[in-house]
Amino acid sequence: SYRKGGYHAVRIGDPFAAGRYIAQRKMGWGHFSTVWLAYDTHSSKYVALKIQKSAEQFAEAALHEIEFLLSIADGDPSNSKCVVRLIDHFKHNGPNGQHLCMVLEFLGDSLLRLIKFTRYKGIELNKVREICKCILIGLDYLHRELGIIHSDLKPENILLFSTIDPTKDPVRSALTPILERPEGGALNGGSTMNIIEKKLKRRARRAVANISLRRVSMGGAAEAPKVTKSLDGIDMRCKVVDFGNACWADKTFADEIQTRQYRSPEVILGSGYSFSADMWSFACTAFELATGELMFAPKSGQGFSEDEDHLALMMELLGKIPRKIATGGRSKDYFDRHGDLKRIRRLKLRPLDRYLVDKYKFCESDAREFSEFLCPLLDFSPEKRPTAQQCLQHPWLNLKTSTV
Ligand code: ADP
Ligand code: MG
Repeated sequence: SYRKGGYHAVRIGDPFAAGRYIAQRKMGWGHFSTVWLAYDTHSSKYVALKIQKSAEQFAEAALHEIEFLLSIADGDPSNSKCVVRLIDHFKHNGPNGQHLCMVLEFLGDSLLRLIKFTRYKGIELNKVREICKCILIGLDYLHRELGIIHSDLKPENILLFSTIDPTKDPVRSALTPILERPEGGALNGGSTMNIIEKKLKRRARRAVANISLRRVSMGGAAEAPKVTKSLDGIDMRCKVVDFGNACWADKTFADEIQTRQYRSPEVILGSGYSFSADMWSFACTAFELATGELMFAPKSGQGFSEDEDHLALMMELLGKIPRKIATGGRSKDYFDRHGDLKRIRRLKLRPLDRYLVDKYKFCESDAREFSEFLCPLLDFSPEKRPTAQQCLQHPWLNLKTSTV
């Protein structure tokens, strides 16, 4: 990927924007970019420098992302809406071509790393509530004030807010010893897409085999910090990032949006989508935070596709898809006229609250309250899902579970 049209290779100390920004170290990467910690010599602050691959389609995608980030910054002068702030953008010429660069406020680890940090056991419910409030404030702002659908909401694209000095960076270094760095060593061989797919598959497998994960990644278990203790000091505020797939609700263009596991039924069925598609992904994210595992991890099998498995998993947890939805659009391919799946006949029904008790050992009241919060967001009819604004009023967000 480090060739013409691809990533820009950066060395520590490299200057950008005529010396304004100095690269410090690599923090992450995505499909189209690498992200560096940089020092902003104008403001004397640390920033995140997102350097896009140079080929035309990546430059176009960056311009698209910048368009959204500019509106986001414009509408939120006090920077209080839980969405990442664009500070600057410019072009950088390198041996692989011209790269669009975005300068973003510096944030901490992603929620995916936080989940890994719990060894896929999930985060205490009181902390899940704090995180959910931030995400909802961000979504409410995007949806109601700006008319933007994020389209790729998931733990990886939500970053913890960090008020910590990045040169010391205790959050990251506290997490690093027990976690493989998601960005580590994956920059050569295979396309990034492939790597991401593989990572997701690996996650799904690990989610099932928690025990082997502990054996594989723990190394010296003695040095591992106690999970609950170490999370105690971490500020649970966070922000929504990655507007590479965002769209205006009044001009959606792609049919297929969202990362597989967070994809809503209306997107799978090709029946059109709006803000409520983000609400579905939000619910999947909240479930994952609380349990440590993907809510839906569909796989294709003998005689059925990944889409069909996904729909089956949804029906097992949430009940039957309403007739109206099972008969419109692409649904005819999957459902018979009774609204049953054609190729997956036997479903193991397990309502969400029971599932939380049986599989994740939630106590009855936690399970009931949490599923009362989640289920409306997972309505098969997109227009029936609560909006982010309505969801912010839900009593679950202000409950407090005693942790003694
Ligand atoms: P992509 O669109 O290529 O997926 P993202 O915007 O999701 O790019 O960024 C990729 C990764 O870089 C993130 O998952 C995160 O690890 C890191 N990152 C992105 N933005 C920031 C930021 N503002 N502060 C700190 N790290 C960031
Ligand atoms: Mg991303």
